[in-house]
Amino acid sequence: MAQETLNFQAEVSKLLEIVVHSLYSNKEIFLRELVSNASDACDKLRYAALTQPELVEGDSDYKIRLIPDKQARTLTIADNGIGMNKADLVENLGTIARSGTANFLSQLSGDAKKDVTLIGQFGVGFYSAFMVADKVEVITRKAGESEGWRWTSDGRGAFTIAEDESAGRGARIVLHLRDGEDEFLESQRLRHIVKTYSDHIALPVLLVEEEGKEERLNAASALWTRSKSEVTPEQYREFYHHVAHAFDEPWLTLHYKAEGAIEYTGLLFIPSHKPFDLFHPDRKQHVKLYVKRVFITDDCADLLPPYLRFLRGVVDSQDLPLNISREMLQHNPVLAKIRTGLVKRVLSELKKRAEDENGNYDAFWNEFGAVLKEGLYEERERRDEILPLCRFRSTKGDGLVSLKQYVERMKPGQEAIYTITGDDPVALRKSPQLEGFLARDVEVLLLTDPIDEFWVSAVGSFEDKPFRSVAQAGTDLGAIAKEEKEGETPEPEAAPAKDMDTLIAALKLALGEQVKDVRPSERLTESAVCLVSDQGEMSLHLERLLRQHQQLGQGAPRILEINPRHALIRRLAEKAGSEGAGGIEDAAHLLLDQARILEGETLPDPAAFARRMAAALEKGLA
Ligand code: ADP
Ligand code: MG
Repeated sequence: MAQETLNFQAEVSKLLEIVVHSLYSNKEIFLRELVSNASDACDKLRYAALTQPELVEGDSDYKIRLIPDKQARTLTIADNGIGMNKADLVENLGTIARSGTANFLSQLSGDAKKDVTLIGQFGVGFYSAFMVADKVEVITRKAGESEGWRWTSDGRGAFTIAEDESAGRGARIVLHLRDGEDEFLESQRLRHIVKTYSDHIALPVLLVEEEGKEERLNAASALWTRSKSEVTPEQYREFYHHVAHAFDEPWLTLHYKAEGAIEYTGLLFIPSHKPFDLFHPDRKQHVKLYVKRVFITDDCADLLPPYLRFLRGVVDSQDLPLNISREMLQHNPVLAKIRTGLVKRVLSELKKRAEDENGNYDAFWNEFGAVLKEGLYEERERRDEILPLCRFRSTKGDGLVSLKQYVERMKPGQEAIYTITGDDPVALRKSPQLEGFLARDVEVLLLTDPIDEFWVSAVGSFEDKPFRSVAQAGTDLGAIAKEEKEGETPEPEAAPAKDMDTLIAALKLALGEQVKDVRPSERLTESAVCLVSDQGEMSLHLERLLRQHQQLGQGAPRILEINPRHALIRRLAEKAGSEGAGGIEDAAHLLLDQARILEGETLPDPAAFARRMAAALEKGLA
């Protein structure tokens, strides 16, 4: 019999090594993974048979059988699902097709505990068999095909594939147990594991005793069809682990039946940790769609909007036709109604948690807030529901603040909600643009997610208070009184207006096209200069983001603001006043470069900067 030996893809080998060595404390989960795969395989066949009834070959009694053999020391997990042909075997059990695999593997720390959670999110699935087996055989025949196959591997770099005429439709996974793993041959142990992890599986999981007697181990009714009072928190959790390929606790479990014009059941979860590919462009939607308990797809883009892509679980519709194809799901009016219902329900559930002091809402926000905020931009008609759910870091304290709280503590005379955007809250707190706001005790929201650049301008205002960037010209701080602080030295005098005018004219002349304008500043107290954007203009942060993604070439020139109370500016103004506009070119360029550095910009001509800086220092020492 011809046998082919093939190597695992390098990523699989690496993963196998980690699986075998780091999951040892939780070995029994291999059974959950294999039962879960068997259940998926039956779901797939049931779906395929809707349009190709001949595939069931007279056997539509889907089930999963566990067959322990104490003499041979093997445990077999057998299903009569869709099965695999040779190409499927190579593809599914020899490679990891998922995007971001290499990146994922590099995140593993070697710390078994952390890695378990990560691997769980990644869905190590089938390969977990090697935790308990030193040899695994998969004997399988794909529904509708005549050749059967035997895949064999010891999990160390390679596997073999050979034809096998004994293979029935579906797959039999034969585990040759490692020394010391005999517990997985004991009925009692298997019963317990199935009850713990796989009770929710909708198909019967049967234990086949040595005499051939079959015993059903699970409840075998789809969990979401049961009423809430019949489901324990543990069962919900295990179901979540099954549908989400996760190891963590769900942060939210939402189980409900929609009745009325459109009938469906939703069993949805929000994980407590974000998956590693939350922002990967190819990431799919992960809620599974069923129609009258038949699995249809786990990749239905229209089921939920992208800003709720952190949801996991199942939606089961009564109204969609059973023979619906994945293509027919596009622009389907029933599906659109389900989607509206789901969005409403999820947002109102989030609202409840946000308003509940014990709701641990911040934990959700820290993981998924950046995704939810996309909704502000993408779904205009939901803005009023999403805005109250948003939380922000701000210049006041380290916690999160809602817009409502922000508005409640606005200063007398303050008319806008002030924001500043950047990459990192720690660096943002030190921005010169904030100085005038801090001096007036005006709170500023620190926006550090890329999406913030987009929704703020799209949304415009909250409760009639406009959002305004502190890094934008025209911010009128004059109406808000500065805080009087005890024992503080009085503010220095500003340079005389006439001298300032001369200085500004001189700076403009020296800097030419490099700046859009030069203006005296209200917002600076400590720093001499800062850069701001004109009203309606792109922020410097956004410009940098776009440049990083090659979406933008050179940015537009900015407004240079100068602080008339700063010692350096006063000296320069005095000099300009007495000596006229000449002789300050170097100072002009140094000021602009300084403002760029404070902004986190790279300098267009670092060599010139260094030369001028050295000259200025030397002069100072003379
Ligand atoms: P996942 O279940 O997340 O896709 P697994 O590693 O558990 O990943 O399984 C890999 C793939 O192998 C599955 O997607 C499926 O295509 C295939 N597979 C595994 N077990 C079976 C089975 N019992 N019958 C048919 N195909 C299977
Ligand atoms: Mg799996």
